[in-house]
Amino acid sequence: MASFAFADAARFLLLTVLGIPGSLSTADAASASPVSGWRSDLDWAALTSKLSSSASLIDTSYDDYAGECFPEFSEPSPTTYALIDQPSGMCLPHQFLGWEMSWPRPSENGHLNQTFNQAFQDILDLVYDALTDVDSWLADPTNPSLNLPSKVLFPSIASDVVAAVNFAKENGLEISVKNSGHSYQGASSKKDTLLLNMNRYTHYAPTGITDCDASILGSTVAEDLSTQPCLLSLAKNKSSLIRVGGGENFDKVYRALIAANEEEGYKYHLVGGAAGTVSPMGWSWQGGLAGTTGGRLYGFGVDQVVQLEMVLPNGVHVKFGPTEWEDASAEGFTVPRTKVVSGVCRSNPDEHDEENWVWKSCPEDFDIDFNDMWFAVRGGGGGTWGVVTSVYLQLHDYLPVENICSILFHLQQKSALPSPLSLLSLRHSTYWRHRF
Ligand SMILES: Cc1cc2nc3c(=O)[nH]c(=O)nc-3n(C[C@H](O)[C@H](O)[C@H](O)COP(=O)(O)OP(=O)(O)OC[C@H]3O[C@@H](n4cnc5c(N)ncnc54)[C@H](O)[C@@H]3O)c2cc1C
Repeated sequence: MASFAFADAARFLLLTVLGIPGSLSTADAASASPVSGWRSDLDWAALTSKLSSSASLIDTSYDDYAGECFPEFSEPSPTTYALIDQPSGMCLPHQFLGWEMSWPRPSENGHLNQTFNQAFQDILDLVYDALTDVDSWLADPTNPSLNLPSKVLFPSIASDVVAAVNFAKENGLEISVKNSGHSYQGASSKKDTLLLNMNRYTHYAPTGITDCDASILGSTVAEDLSTQPCLLSLAKNKSSLIRVGGGENFDKVYRALIAANEEEGYKYHLVGGAAGTVSPMGWSWQGGLAGTTGGRLYGFGVDQVVQLEMVLPNGVHVKFGPTEWEDASAEGFTVPRTKVVSGVCRSNPDEHDEENWVWKSCPEDFDIDFNDMWFAVRGGGGGTWGVVTSVYLQLHDYLPVENICSILFHLQQKSALPSPLSLLSLRHSTYWRHRF
């Protein structure tokens, strides 16, 4: 990987926790230009002037987190489904994720500074009920351990992401990226960052299934990479793909597949995550384990990725994927071995209408090695290498899936055995119990 990409990526995105209150948000603030709140010294109007009319840039605060998310955590059986669409885009599936290291105990330098023994004692104190302060920590908007962003952008199209990354680059801002917020390390949220909540980004899955035309097999990959997803799929003896947007979760993707299967007679199967609100973004980029959806047969989440489209830390909108491969069946491999990964750059990044996007060879001085980038993104962690705007995922022949989980659930209900999670929820049940 070129040093440029690594250096920029290193200062690019998220990690975990910390937080500071700002001013109250409005979901429909849309392209209004917030002049108060976090980094009011910056020319946010310059950013909003470049956004599409359906994008929203809003100020957010602890009040949003508390007001929009806490009520759900107090439900007897909270669900992430109720949290991901809250107006500020701040909610996380576990209440504690809004604090540094997912831990609300305030400390001058945060939980990171605690010794292992101190941290462990915290947990013991909480579990065994010796501490009574946890509610006051959670209710304190000045808690230095808060880790919530104070400015949230809901991009709608790729040009919004390009504009945000360029604005961040020009002003030395960090960006955090969020789909479901499901990372239990809180990797989708960080204070003092511009949070890109991808939840309202273009949804491709409902119309995103492609059945590949087998007659193109053997032809060379088109220069704009338009034929690359199908050519690679056909080389794997697969005939269908689905394109998924950077803000879609598995629930949306599975529903698109169910609709297509019901209409076309059960053709398609996707290897994906177990929970509907988990997304193919963070899931795939950290590997993607698919024990219940055919992962043992068809591989990890990263193995399903056929082409990637993303906005890199240098603000360039690219798409890339394997363009040369060789048969490796003699060595026991079921898929071809990648020899070359190629990418193209969008030459009209300000164009909003995808019909008019132009993909061309990247400029001479474009110092990115797509072979390294392909390797890094698929397993190197979400939010590390850029903002993924869409991805082509491999589809397989329809595979009936037995729902083992619900069988176990019913057995457990019958035997009235407590689950480990229910034991954990004896105290502070509000913080732990959850439906996904
Ligand atoms: C109930 C539950 C069930 C799970 N089941 C499984 C399972 O079956 N198999 C498995 O392997 N894992 C599973 N996980 C773990 C899950 O894969 C990770 O939490 C994963 O990080 C979630 O990704 P996300 O995009 O949904 O979450 P987020 O928290 O939104 O994002 C996770 C990471 O990806 C980044 N990211 C999100 N969107 C983008 C984007 N568009 N571009 C670039 N970066 C982005 C974020 O910045 C963050 O670093 C499960 C988790 C939960 C809570």
